[in-house]
Amino acid sequence: MPRNYEIAELKRLDVAHHLPAQQDYKLIEDMGGSRIVTHAEGCYIHDGDGNRILDGMAGLWCVNVGYGRDELVEVAAEQMRELPFYNTFFKTVTPPTVLLAQKIAQHTGGKLQHVFFNASGSEANDTVFRMVRHYWKLKGEPKRTVFISRWNAYHGSTVAGVSLGGMKAMHAQGDLPVPGVEHVRQPYWFGEGFGQDPVQFGKDCAAAIEERILAVGPENVAAFIGEPVQGAGGVIIPPPGYWQEVEAICRKYGILLVADEVICGFGRTGQWFGHQTYGFTPDLVPMAKGLSSGYLPISATAVSSDIVEVLKTGGDFVHGFTYSGHPVAAAVALANIGIIEREGLVERTREDTGPYLARALTRLLAHELVGEVRSIGLLGAVEIVSKKGTNQRWLGAEGNAGPVVRDLCIKNGLMVRGIRDTIVMCPPLIISHQQIDDMVDIIGKSLDEALPVLR
Ligand code: PLP
Repeated sequence: MPRNYEIAELKRLDVAHHLPAQQDYKLIEDMGGSRIVTHAEGCYIHDGDGNRILDGMAGLWCVNVGYGRDELVEVAAEQMRELPFYNTFFKTVTPPTVLLAQKIAQHTGGKLQHVFFNASGSEANDTVFRMVRHYWKLKGEPKRTVFISRWNAYHGSTVAGVSLGGMKAMHAQGDLPVPGVEHVRQPYWFGEGFGQDPVQFGKDCAAAIEERILAVGPENVAAFIGEPVQGAGGVIIPPPGYWQEVEAICRKYGILLVADEVICGFGRTGQWFGHQTYGFTPDLVPMAKGLSSGYLPISATAVSSDIVEVLKTGGDFVHGFTYSGHPVAAAVALANIGIIEREGLVERTREDTGPYLARALTRLLAHELVGEVRSIGLLGAVEIVSKKGTNQRWLGAEGNAGPVVRDLCIKNGLMVRGIRDTIVMCPPLIISHQQIDDMVDIIGKSLDEALPVLR
């Protein structure tokens, strides 16, 4: 839109009228309004106060191809002129929607040959929720309704998304989860397995899934859902072998395996999908974010042919949204995937920038506040501890050093997220070596500045 606004006035209007996502409204009011982000290019965002900030979060884990891609703007404008909207309810579909489904199936591969479209990651998981229960009814096993998930998982903010997720603070608002969702321990070695052999810890976490299956009764369990790497939980990278154990357990009891790839998809971990990085084969794959690099809202749920064959026996699957397969969003997603392919961003993440980030992060290990650094592809985390050599948190179990360091990072020109005592990062896949160094240097400087604040 034209930049004919006053920042101070926008902040006032923000407080007066706008309710932001996942926020404390009183805090925003006390701050005098949210930071107004006005424009962006490449890996940088700009705010109304004149700050240029390196975007270590790719927006919200999504702007994989970076900002300022005119090509995507042109594609959107062209599709809007040609056909701005049509639905998929009336036995109708639009060309970009079909071509995008084919393109996704090409990258998911194997039996994941079918794609259901939605507008957000949460909706992609709502689709999983309903489709899986419908599938088991059609298959003649109607008792299979229970989903098993992990504590501290994030699967979205709708009723099904929050229920499948394992965020206790979210459960507390809205009397969730809905019945039929069971949570088990997460494979968070630094937080919950510190001092133990990581591989054994991973096995123990997988065994907790089997124990819960047996407690609930395998005949009642519909699916296990997990993010290949937990993102919003704090970039929790599972120990080697964890996913193989989980897959074997699901297969043993005939339980569907759902890989929530909303963050991990589209190159983030160095393969097209996180399940490819970790070498397992899910039955359903919700995805969003990097699908369009956030240029327009769109998500997808990839589904295996075996499931679709069963769904075909059930008449209408009475599920779907006005914006399922939106042609403009689909056209932009298709062009976005084209950029990822053309520029080799998946390979670059795997072979170049991912390993470069991993090496750069090790520079922080010497810092007295740092307990661990970890990364996979371009997903990284720094654990802040109150006592070097331990996993001791700042304020009791939850701690709060993360937000302190995050605020200092933003002041120093880097957008990262502080989750409990963990700093997480997820930069655009186009990030350069120099920008990775800048990111790590700013985190180091901010940790130095945090010391007197925290002590
Ligand atoms: N699933 C995962 C793994 C996510 O990280 C998110 C969002 O961060 C979601 C689902 C929900 O996506 P959305 O915010 O687009 O509804």
